[in-house]
Amino acid sequence: MVRVNCHVHSTESDGELEPREIVEMAVDEGLTHICFTDHFRMPKDVNDYRDERKHLDSYYEELNLLRREFFGKVKVLIGVELDWLEGYEKWFVEELGDRNYDFVLGSVHWLRDATGRMNRPHFPKGGLEVFGGERAFIELYLKEIRKMIEFGLIDCVAHLDVFRERLEGNEVLDNDWYREEVLDLLKLMESKGIALEFNCAGWGILGEQFPQRWIIEKAVDMGIGVTVGNDFHKLKHGSLDMGIDQAFEMLREIGCSEVLVFRGRKSEGLRI
Ligand SMILES: [Zn+2]
Ligand SMILES: [Zn+2]
Repeated sequence: MVRVNCHVHSTESDGELEPREIVEMAVDEGLTHICFTDHFRMPKDVNDYRDERKHLDSYYEELNLLRREFFGKVKVLIGVELDWLEGYEKWFVEELGDRNYDFVLGSVHWLRDATGRMNRPHFPKGGLEVFGGERAFIELYLKEIRKMIEFGLIDCVAHLDVFRERLEGNEVLDNDWYREEVLDLLKLMESKGIALEFNCAGWGILGEQFPQRWIIEKAVDMGIGVTVGNDFHKLKHGSLDMGIDQAFEMLREIGCSEVLVFRGRKSEGLRI
């Protein structure tokens, strides 16, 4: 049986476990595939993470060694989570260099609010006046997702509606304008061959996966590929396989017969 986690953070970014500990845990938990998606560093003028996000060559060498060492036990894939920022397209391309990533997961973790400051779409709760209110905030977030897709360097959109963490409730999402904007995004993803992530971390935060079920249903209906991951950072938030089986169960219910993993930036369908 296939059990995959395609969204995992190690000590190379903001996770608490070393890559080796994660791979050993993946074997213990019976995962068949694990894809590292440590956050890539950010332009220093936006956020200087110093040593927290090094992404040194030694990290890639280590992951490659682990891939070979654990061959036959768990498939180790080497990805990266890219924090999209408009205006830094060239920077990303240059900094990512010629490393042979298997998978590039695209995320919007930063938004420029109306005061010009960088602000997170998923933290802290509330305080959306700086964006001009709830609707303006959501529209800005979705617009950034669109730009990131159009940029084209990514294989998959991570936690598409993670902005829900800042909302007081889901009522605003019942509006037609929201539904239409999301559908437009899905159409764009479909036309560009970009996958959608089923992110289990939402269960621990909001009691519901990211994105909402209707979005996953629509994506499956449109033939958009789906990856599954739980955004593993720390054990106190859940195990490395937290939510994976439930995600597969929901996908099967929806009528999705395969999930994607990426190898050398090419998708591979795994029957579920
Ligand atoms: Zn993320
Ligand atoms: Zn992540």
